[in-house]
Amino acid sequence: LDTLNYFETKCRASKEITERAKKRIPGGVQHNLAFNYPFPLAVDKAEGAYLTDRDGNVYIDFLQAGGPTILGSNYAPVNEAVAEVIKASGPVTGLFHEYELKLAEIINQYMPHIEMYRSLGSGTEAVMAAVRAARASTGKKMVIKVGGAYHGWSDTVVYGLRVPGSFRMNAKGIPFGATGRTRESFPHDLGTLKRKLIENRLRGGTAAVIVEPLGPESGTRPVPKDFNAQVRKLCDEFGSMLIFDEVVTGFRTGLGGAAGYFGVTPDLTVFGKAVSGGYPMAGGVGGSAKAMAVFGSGLDGKNGAHIQVGGTLSANPLSCAAGYFAIKEMARTNAPVIAGRAGDRLTRGLQKLIDKYGLPYVAYNQGSIVHLESSGVLMLDMRNPVKLFKENKGRKKLMEQMGAAYAAHGIITLAGSRMYTSMADTDEVIDDALSRFDQVFA
Ligand code: PLP
Repeated sequence: LDTLNYFETKCRASKEITERAKKRIPGGVQHNLAFNYPFPLAVDKAEGAYLTDRDGNVYIDFLQAGGPTILGSNYAPVNEAVAEVIKASGPVTGLFHEYELKLAEIINQYMPHIEMYRSLGSGTEAVMAAVRAARASTGKKMVIKVGGAYHGWSDTVVYGLRVPGSFRMNAKGIPFGATGRTRESFPHDLGTLKRKLIENRLRGGTAAVIVEPLGPESGTRPVPKDFNAQVRKLCDEFGSMLIFDEVVTGFRTGLGGAAGYFGVTPDLTVFGKAVSGGYPMAGGVGGSAKAMAVFGSGLDGKNGAHIQVGGTLSANPLSCAAGYFAIKEMARTNAPVIAGRAGDRLTRGLQKLIDKYGLPYVAYNQGSIVHLESSGVLMLDMRNPVKLFKENKGRKKLMEQMGAAYAAHGIITLAGSRMYTSMADTDEVIDDALSRFDQVFA
C-alpha cells in the first residue's frame, strides 16, 4: 500500500506520460529495465549515482542503464571529449574515422588477446557476428549455449531456459528451424556439454560454445572458478571456438574483463554496453588476428571472400570516441575497482539486513554486479522445467513488486533483483541506500 500510495501521489507526471505513450508506442514503454508495476517511471535526468524522474523525485541509480556506465551516469569528462569530436565530424560519416582505430587500440592495450576488433551496433549484433565468424572459420554448423544465459535477442541464441526472468525468451515469431542448430547445455554441467559436443559430431560439428563467463544472466547463477578453463579445454578437444560474451563483464570485471579475471583466453569475445561508455551503438567483436581474419573489410563480404557484418551506423565516430574516452577515463580513475568496492559494501550491508529480518533472500556479488535474489533461485533445478517455470513466475512477480517498493523508497534496481554499482557510488551513497533497504525490509 505504501508503494501504491507513493506512485499515485508522487509520480503523476510519470503516469500521465507513460499512459499517453500506450497510444503511440507498442506496450507503452519499450525499454524499461526496472519495473512496470504499478506503472513505469519516466526519467528526466541522470547524473552520477542519481536519477531524477519527471515529477522531480530523486533516486539512487543502481540500474546504471543496465550496466554500461561504470564511471557513473552522464559522465561530464567523456561527454566533453565526445562533443569535441562530433563538433568536427558529426556523429556519422560512413567512412573511416581515427576513433575506430583508437578504440581498437585501447581495447588491445588492456586486453592483449583482443588483437583485432570490429565495431558493431549492439551486443546482440556482436553475438550474431561472432557466431557467423565461428561457423565460417571452422566450417562447422552447431552452436552450444548454456541454459539461462542471455546473449541478446537474435534468433540463434534466443533459446531455452532463462533464469531468472522467464521460462523461455519469448519464442513467438522464431520458427523451429531458426534454433535448430543451437543446443543448450545445463549450467555448470561439463558432462552435458561434452555429450552435446559428441552428439554434434553427427550434425556437422560444433562451430562455437558461447558462455557468459560469470555464469548465466550476468552471474545470477555463478560458475565455479575453473568452469571457463574446463570449457576452453573441451573446445580445444573438439575443434570448436570458445566465445566469451563480455557484454556485461567487459571492463566491469576489471579492465581485462572476465578473460583477465579467470585467466582464460577465448577465441572470440563479444562486447557491448561499456564499450561505448554508455553512448548508443555499443557493440563489437574481437579476438586473435587469426580468429578475426575471417572478417575482412566492410566491402569484402559482398564478394564472398569474407563474412559480411555491419551496417550504416557501425563504427561511427560518436560511439567509438565515447568508448575510447570512457576506457581511458576508467583506467585513469580505476573506476572498475572503485565500483567493485561499492558493490562489496552494498552486498555486505544487504546480507546483514537479510539476516536481521530473517528474509528468504540472498545477496551476492561479483564486484560491481550485485544480486539480491530470493534464495530459491540458486537452487532451482534446470532439469525440471515445469517446476522451474512455476517458481520463476512467482519469483518474477515478487521481484517486480519489490523493485517498485525499492523505488518508492528512492532506489532504482534492475527488475528488483540486480544492481550495478559505479564509480559514483561513494560510501555515503551506499550507506544511504542501505538505510532505505532497511525501511523496505522492515
Ligand atoms: N549479452 C549479454 C550477456 C547481455 O547482458 C546483453 C544485454 O543485456 C546482450 C548480450 C545483448 O546486448 P544488447 O542489449 O546491446 O543487444
